[in-house]
Amino acid sequence: MITLRGIEKSYSLGSNKLMVLKGLNMQIYTGEMVSIMGPSGSGKSTLLNILGMLDNYDSGEYMLDNVLIKDLSEKQAAQYRNKFLGFVFQSFNLLPFKSAVDNVALPLYYQKVGKKQRTKRAEALLEKAGLLEWRDHLPTEMSGGQKQRVAIARALVTEPKVVLADEPTGALDTKTSSEIIKIFKDVNASGVTIVIVTHDPEVAKATQRLIKLRDGIIEN
Ligand code: ADP
Ligand code: MG
Repeated sequence: MITLRGIEKSYSLGSNKLMVLKGLNMQIYTGEMVSIMGPSGSGKSTLLNILGMLDNYDSGEYMLDNVLIKDLSEKQAAQYRNKFLGFVFQSFNLLPFKSAVDNVALPLYYQKVGKKQRTKRAEALLEKAGLLEWRDHLPTEMSGGQKQRVAIARALVTEPKVVLADEPTGALDTKTSSEIIKIFKDVNASGVTIVIVTHDPEVAKATQRLIKLRDGIIEN
């Protein structure tokens, strides 16, 4: 599903260059659920941003579902993101003044799906997340675990092939984290490929494979 070959990425810092990814090779197969761990500053978010087409890389090759993801225009990147990917973040990133159902339906709006259909699909996902009775509530009225379940429902509403999650349990307590892990496992069981950046050994344990990042390359 995902192939990275010789990926290099640096940031310029004044007249200096900070090399973050140093010729990274990686393969993630269709239907896998993998975790990525590594020390703070090792490039995990940089890597996830590249996988999510939120940032470009300097050299190498990134293939996603047999499509070469390179030098895309903003518009192309947005199209591929919409078609292939769902995102889950540590801080949920829900729109604060929108209800749960509107938050979940939002990605469909960008796909120009009609209002009725958007609502119907968003409700179906909220129901799956056990949150249908919360459909009209704002994020401020929900617990962290509920917000993350809304965020996962939003990530799934477009039926992505791959879900990318950056520290999805980083803001949650242990019990809530295990509920979130279970949801990811269920989603994965339905065939969706899942990539989770995490510091949490419990999350890593729940995945099929652990990829370790250190100093800009894969360790194992
Ligand atoms: P991690 O997620 O593993 O903690 P990051 O990918 O966020 O690591 O960052 C890797 C390195 O790149 C860090 O040294 C960080 O300071 C640097 N970095 C990240 N983003 C930028 C940026 N936009 N500009 C300059 N340096 C950056
Ligand atoms: Mg990070």
